[in-house]
Amino acid sequence: MARDVARNIELYDLSLRAIVDGLKEPRVREADPDLRRMILFDRAATATNFGLIAIIDPQGDTSLISRPAAPFNTRDRDYFRYHAAHADPDLRISNPVQSRSSGRWVIPLSRRLSHPDGAFAGIVVGAIFLDHFQQLFEAAGLQKGAVIDLLARDGTILMQVPFVQATVGTSVAGTGTFDRMREAREGLFDGAALAGAERQRFAFAPVGDLPLMVSLSVPVTAIYAAWWRKAIALGGIVLALCGATLVLTALLRREVVQRRAAETATAHLNDALRQLAITDPLTGLHNRRRFDEVLARDLRRATRNGLPLSLILLDADAFKSFNDRYGHQRGDEALQMIARALTEGVDRPGATLCRIGGEEFAAILPETGLPEALRAAERMRQAVAACALPHAGTAHGIVTVSLGVAGLRGDDAASGVNEAGLVAAADAALYEAKRGGRNTVRLAAESGLAEAAPHTPG
Ligand code: GH3
Ligand code: MG
Ligand code: MG
Repeated sequence: MARDVARNIELYDLSLRAIVDGLKEPRVREADPDLRRMILFDRAATATNFGLIAIIDPQGDTSLISRPAAPFNTRDRDYFRYHAAHADPDLRISNPVQSRSSGRWVIPLSRRLSHPDGAFAGIVVGAIFLDHFQQLFEAAGLQKGAVIDLLARDGTILMQVPFVQATVGTSVAGTGTFDRMREAREGLFDGAALAGAERQRFAFAPVGDLPLMVSLSVPVTAIYAAWWRKAIALGGIVLALCGATLVLTALLRREVVQRRAAETATAHLNDALRQLAITDPLTGLHNRRRFDEVLARDLRRATRNGLPLSLILLDADAFKSFNDRYGHQRGDEALQMIARALTEGVDRPGATLCRIGGEEFAAILPETGLPEALRAAERMRQAVAACALPHAGTAHGIVTVSLGVAGLRGDDAASGVNEAGLVAAADAALYEAKRGGRNTVRLAAESGLAEAAPHTPG
């Protein structure tokens, strides 16, 4: 904009200089007025932005006007008095005035005419319409709140857009903002508005070599408003994404925790189911299924390692009659009592105690030789008897058990004994115990200890 303004004024000044030069030519001065007008104003700028150009005599009266117009007097004008008093030949740009010929607001541009001896010979004066600058600045398409000023070096506002007639011609000389601009000539800074207190960002530049400045100011808040809008929108999006990530993470975490809990619950349930599958519900001892598994496992180990293994089979004595006398419910309680007593009586690490039938039990004793198994069987028998649960249907008047013991000694590992054989041997011993009067322990005949170990309660 400063360049545009400078170019316009320089173009116009060319016309003024041509007239000043032309008037130095005696033949031009002596030519008749019509010819003189033709010669002098031939090169004069005629654009619509420019007012007429007039040659003024030392008295301030018009001596020649570029366009047909009524004569006027300029004796009271600043520029006339200045040139009359100063010999410098430079272009003078005056403060806006209302034109005497057209009534429009103009900025007068003038140069001094001098006689060869330097004496004042009048002036040549022209004008640029103020609204030319107004149009030029408005064409820049200013954002809201922005202001453009065309300032004279002395601080006079020559034009301001948005246009306010009252402002034009007033001076901002002495304000901090203007002083800063005048000192720096060109630049960018934040300062108080030329009119008003709002902080503005100023960009300013000199107009060519002319004593003029163009300044553009925008409210600082307006500069950042757009930035803030974008920053807030982007910040909002980032926050929303962060929030979504947090929510998804929390959901995922909950899912993982739930899944882990479900896995643990399933594992516990599986354990419980497995336990249930191998447990006798009435007594809490191992059931028949577990008995078969453990017997097979322990027999395999014993055979492989050449270790002894013993098996005790037990059967409650005259239990049918117990049920008949005391009822099935009391029968069940008696079976539970027997189970507790056996658990105390077996008292060997690694022993497996099972309920393998209605009132039949078994104890598998790995790494246990027959003598030790016999002692264990006896302890079990006594433990049941010690409960002294009345049973009127037996010779002793209490609930008792009969026991049969069989086993591997360890050195007979290769003898090909299997589970069925071992159970049959123990069962035969049990039968012997029954036959021998019940409430007693018998060792299987083929164990070789049978003769030595029969035990009959006294
Ligand atoms: P013994 O063994 O001394 O020769 O006589 P017993 O009466 O015990 O013989 P038997 O094997 O004929 O009878 C077993 C009885 O055990 C039959 C049944 O009434 C009883 N019984 C079996 N299972 C249960 C049970 O789970 N609960 C109860 N209350 N009684 C049972
Ligand atoms: Mg039985
Ligand atoms: Mg029985």
